[in-house]
This record gives sequence, structure tokens and C-alpha cells, in this order.
Amino acid sequence: MKGIAEYCGLCGVSGYSGDQVSMVAEGLLALQHRGQEAAGILACSGGSMRLHKRRGTVAEAMSDIPAEFFSRQMSSVMGHVRYGTYGGEDVENAQPLLVSMAGLQIGIAHNGTLSNAGPLRDELQRQGAIFLTNTDTEVVLHLMSRNLEHTGYNIREALGIALDRLQGAYCFLLMSPEGLYAVRDPLGFRPLNLGRFEEGGWMVASETLAFDVCGAEYVREIEAGEIYFVPHDGGEPESGYFGGGSELFRNRKGLAQCIFEHVYFARPGSRVFGDSVYSTRLAMGRQLAREHPADCDVVAPVPDSGMFAAIGFARELGIPFDMCFTRNHYIGRTFINPASARRAVMVMRKLQPIPEAVRDRRICVVEDSIVRGTTSSARIRALREAGAAEVHMRVSCPPHRFGCYFGIDFPEPSKLIANRYSMEEIADQLGLDSLGYLSREGMLSCVTAHRPEDYCTACFDGRYPVKVPESGFENRC
Ligand code: SF4
Repeated sequence: MKGIAEYCGLCGVSGYSGDQVSMVAEGLLALQHRGQEAAGILACSGGSMRLHKRRGTVAEAMSDIPAEFFSRQMSSVMGHVRYGTYGGEDVENAQPLLVSMAGLQIGIAHNGTLSNAGPLRDELQRQGAIFLTNTDTEVVLHLMSRNLEHTGYNIREALGIALDRLQGAYCFLLMSPEGLYAVRDPLGFRPLNLGRFEEGGWMVASETLAFDVCGAEYVREIEAGEIYFVPHDGGEPESGYFGGGSELFRNRKGLAQCIFEHVYFARPGSRVFGDSVYSTRLAMGRQLAREHPADCDVVAPVPDSGMFAAIGFARELGIPFDMCFTRNHYIGRTFINPASARRAVMVMRKLQPIPEAVRDRRICVVEDSIVRGTTSSARIRALREAGAAEVHMRVSCPPHRFGCYFGIDFPEPSKLIANRYSMEEIADQLGLDSLGYLSREGMLSCVTAHRPEDYCTACFDGRYPVKVPESGFENRC
């Protein structure tokens, strides 16, 4: 079975009196960093749905939205940006997915990875289900469809029964003829937020930056285990919780929100899990400086995601902050590009040292993470070639030693540099004068809205909050 791991972004609007299609397209643009492989939009008007999705960036995919999307007022619109791997680049795998279920149109979009999607898919196929995509998301539609008849064609009930079978990380937007559902898994791995328009109407988005762009006010997080339903007819939204029958839900001791959202993925202007990403990254830099100060002339970030931790690091130590790299903005994020064959080339293209900022200076580079080490190694070499007297590195999270099964496409553990080498060996391999990582406890001390035990840190410490597939990465659907 082919593996699919997704890291994506969701945006939905309902009940807003203006152009909801353009609104969702703008929201997706604000979430572009969460996936650049494909984008899609699903609009509902008068109980009838229209789908438009394409490969490429939001600008590319949304450049030819058919005129019929704008010819009438939509009751609800939802959209998705996608990052996928392992043969997932076909447009069939782009989302939202739209199906007809017992004559009812149902659309779905997903952010996360279902860790039991492989066994569920096998079970459903044995029962005769025919899958049209490689995505784990389609499993949910088949589970719902099997429960539709005995729930009296009650979409919400069928959805709840399907959700009880799922393990892993998921936020869903689901469109039915009655309304728009926003769902977050019982451990809350991925962020999902609720916003409201002053003039009426609701917005849901993975990150709150989409609200700012669209003029919506942040209301709160969609809670872990919550189903939030906004009816198309403008009626009052309803909130409920699923998982009554789920062992995981009953036994959960805390949440498992992905701390790596704060370290790397989310945009600094966003709020995720109730905390400002900007403030959290500054705090991580300050904490890193307290744990691993550096004797250097200048602190330099690796743009863009290392930027705010570097500012915090420099402020804490009173050392000048400077930009030692110039970034080519016309190239996507290196980590997030699924085609590994292109990664090495893109690393070299993306950041170039500025010789005048580097020459004869002792530089401390602040990175957000080191995964394989190949990217960091190329950057350090480039700094030395540009004349740096010394190169130190500080990393604003602990060493990555384990894989992620919850929506982040890390390479398998044997390819993670910290899984194979000691700190001294890593510093040596990367050609550094010194190296320091933020501690797990230090990292968790920087988030304030939830308790430290409400975050997943499995890729750092191997403490997985749910059972991982026995066959590891091979079993991802
Ligand atoms: S394993 Fe790491 S990347 Fe994956 S959800 Fe947990 S903290 Fe996030």
C-alpha cells in the first residue's frame, strides 16, 4: 500500500453576506505555507455543491475558479491547501473530496494523518468498498456511508460513529446539504479555530491569520473532540462532542497538541492552541539563550522560521542581531517540498550568505530544527566560504530523534541526524564550532495557554500519545 502523509490547511466560511468564495480563497492564501502541492474550494448554494481544485499554489489553483461560483450567493464555502507525499500529487488526491452518499452530496477536507487508516482501509475494501483516491481522508466517507441507513440518514450521527473509529491526528471540514461541520480530534493534535464576522457569519481556519486577512474576529479554538455545526440556513450554530464510545476519549489524560506547530509550521502572526506563535518563538529564543549562551559577535536567523527565536536569543544575550543570509522568496520551503530529489538543489538556491555581513565575524546561527542535517551542513559551509571566523548553531527545539505519525512528514528515524549521532558528532559533521538545542522542558515552558502535558513531543522523546502502526512508516495510508 502506498503511504500518504499530509500536512495541510483548512478554511471555511458560512453565513457571511459577501463573496464567500473569494473570502475562502484569501484565507487559503494566508495558509499557503501549510501546503503548496494543491488547493481546492467547495461551495454550497441551495443544497447543491460545486467543487474546484487544482495542483499548484493557491494563486495558481484559484486563478480559474469558474464563473458559476460567483453567479449566486453561496450559503457555505470551504477550502483546503495540501501537502502530500508518496504518489499523492495527482489531482484526485487534492481536497476537498466530494461524493454522493445515498443521494446526498458530502464534501470533506482534512488536516492531519489517520494513524489507523491502513487497517481501516483494508477492512473496508474486504467489505467491498472501492476507493477512488490514495488519501486516508476517504476512509471517513466510507465509514459514514456504512452507517447512514441505520442512523436514518442522519449525517451528524453517521459522522460521529465514523469518528469513533479513527486514531491519530485530524481536523475536518465537512459539508452536507444542511451545513458546515468543523471537527477536531479528541487529542487536538492539529489546530482549528473559530472566528466570526461583525456583520454576521462564521469562519473556521487552521490558523487565525486567515481571520485577520478576511476581517473575522477570533472567537476561540474548536476544542479537542468537538463537532461544531453551522447550518446553511443561517440558524444558530450547534456544538457537541463525539467520542462517547471511544476508549481513547474516555481514557485521555491530556491533549496532544503538536508543539512543532509553534516551533516551525505556523506563521508568526497566527495564534495556535491559544498562544501567539510570535510570542512563543521569542520566548523559545530567550530560553535557548539561557540554556546555551554563545560567545559570538552576531546572532543570525535562518529565515524565515528561525527569525523570531533568533530575535529572542539576541535580546536575551544583548548581542547584535543581523541578517547574514539573503533569501530568494520565489522558492518554496525546503522541508515542505515532497520531491526529495529537488530538495538539495533548492537548499542552495534558497539562502545565500551576505559576504559583508559574515566576513571575519563570529556568527551564531539560530535554526528552528535540524532534521537530516543536509540543509544545515550546506548553510554552514556557505557561511565559512563567505569568510565567517566562527560558526555556532543554536536550535530552538530539542533534537529530532523519532518519526511523526500525526501529520508531519519527517523522514524515517534512521535518516534523522540526531537519531544516529551524539551532539559532539553532529557538531563535527556539520562543521560547527559549537551546537546547542533547546531542552524539552525549556520548550514547553514557552507555551502558556495549556499545560505542558497537553502537547505532543513524540518526535523528540518517543513518547507517542497513541499507539503507532506496528509496521511503522510502511503502513501509512
Ligand atoms: S510527533 Fe512531533 S511533529 Fe508529530 S505531532 Fe508530535 S510534536 Fe508534532
